[in-house]
Amino acid sequence: MAESALVLFSGGQDSTTCLVWALSRYDHVETVGFTYGQRHHVEMECREPVRAGVTAIEPAWSHKLGRDHLIDLGILAEVSVSALTADQPFGTRPDGLPATFVPGRNLLFLTFAGIVAHQRNIRRLITGVCETDYSGYPDCRDDTMKALQVALNLGMDARLAIETPLMWIDKAATWELAQNLGGRALVDLIVEKTHTCYEGNRTERHEWGFGCGICDACRLRSDGWRRYKADTIR
Ligand code: ZN
Repeated sequence: MAESALVLFSGGQDSTTCLVWALSRYDHVETVGFTYGQRHHVEMECREPVRAGVTAIEPAWSHKLGRDHLIDLGILAEVSVSALTADQPFGTRPDGLPATFVPGRNLLFLTFAGIVAHQRNIRRLITGVCETDYSGYPDCRDDTMKALQVALNLGMDARLAIETPLMWIDKAATWELAQNLGGRALVDLIVEKTHTCYEGNRTERHEWGFGCGICDACRLRSDGWRRYKADTIR
């Protein structure tokens, strides 16, 4: 039986790696993205060029890549205030969580992705959440994903599987995974076309890609790049 998957795809490094991970395993892969009143739309604008770039690397992937779903969750910014959805300073909240944490975001994303998957008879949901080398978001944890899988399956009488290829690897290993999946061409595509920076900076180009170089997202991406490059002479 043909296996299909739905990838939560934002246009960033992690979800791009997950997209290719899915294309290398499954017969049919669709993507879903969410707008939620983000301060910066740069990442969303990267989605189509990245999808096109991925299919140009490996002809088999272009046959497997199906439609893209875009879901408007603008209401999230009205009820869930954070440094990503309002003009608030980055840094740490009084409770120790990052100011960029959007309460409920991944819970909603996975729920809506589950609805799309269930209606399209897609059994696998792929998401790039990670609790090894991350920004400290509680909704990226393995237990959160497992609880969501149970809740979705009970609530929709479904048999969805939430798969998290990056959960137990760090950012250096995420770069390494991209290298193994798509070689230099995929690493170059991720550097050039994906976006991670919280500040929406696409003017400063570093060897690991575009970004301010200072925010938490840039710091994780650049630290991972340096360790990835240091591990092997490439
Ligand atoms: Zn940045």
